[in-house]
Amino acid sequence: AIREGFATVPDVTWESIGALHKIRHELKMAVIEPIMNPELFEKVGIIAPSGVLLWGPPGCGKTMLAKAVANECNTNFISVKGPELVNKYVGESERALRQVFNRARASSPCIIFFDEFDAIVPKRSDGSSEAMARIVNTLLAELDGVDGRTGVYVIAATNRPDIIDPAILRPGRLDKLLFVGLPSHEERLEILKTATRKTPLDPQFDFEMSSITTEQALTNFSGADIANLVREASVVALNRCIQNGLKDIVVTENDFMEALSKVSCSVNENDLAHY
Ligand code: ATP
Repeated sequence: AIREGFATVPDVTWESIGALHKIRHELKMAVIEPIMNPELFEKVGIIAPSGVLLWGPPGCGKTMLAKAVANECNTNFISVKGPELVNKYVGESERALRQVFNRARASSPCIIFFDEFDAIVPKRSDGSSEAMARIVNTLLAELDGVDGRTGVYVIAATNRPDIIDPAILRPGRLDKLLFVGLPSHEERLEILKTATRKTPLDPQFDFEMSSITTEQALTNFSGADIANLVREASVVALNRCIQNGLKDIVVTENDFMEALSKVSCSVNENDLAHY
């Protein structure tokens, strides 16, 4: 388990992530290669971004991507949840934030992952509190001190980039924005195959020919919704096996059909308007 605020190397690999090929490539060039081959970047005078902001609807793989990047580079990973940093350490958030960067420097190379980033860095405006403005300023100062040479990289994730203080997104800070959107029909199929790679599927069951993977069946499903569907189908299969006293469990197309009647997409039309 990843302890909040402490460095570990995550166990999420690229093999456990379906689709998202374009983002994977972008992250390779923006984070993985600069960590693995810094001298190449120096030679051509390219300064890698000090941080990347992943944005998009919930459950589409932002956290998984950040962990897979750290796993691929075998770097330490510190995970910080925005609302916790702000609420858990009331009055002490700046100190906690500085401590996170200190810990990252002490265990470099290290990726700091800020989830629900908008909670830490809302726009500083007349309406926002002084305490919040101090947190934003602390983060700006820390980001300005981060570059490839310190071995600390920042990946942040948010569902709402529009409410983030724009100073954070200026060049040299989190200046690389990557959109992680809902998967297309083909990508949903790919995620479904990845999410079932350890599921004992009925050999007769062909995803491509099945009515659960028609374009309409999984419309607006995120990666998390698809993982939820697989879990639900496994529970249906498990119940069937227990009721019939079967020892061998296989998950069938019917189990998926039944699961599909119980789960639905979690991102609603109103939320989609943001993206
Ligand atoms: P949030 O904005 O709510 O923090 P997120 O974009 O960070 O969401 P993740 O936490 O990475 O989403 O994904 C949640 C779960 O959804 C994962 O643990 C995984 O089970 C599943 N999932 C999401 N995207 C994919 C994918 N592309 N391939 C396989 N599984 C996925």
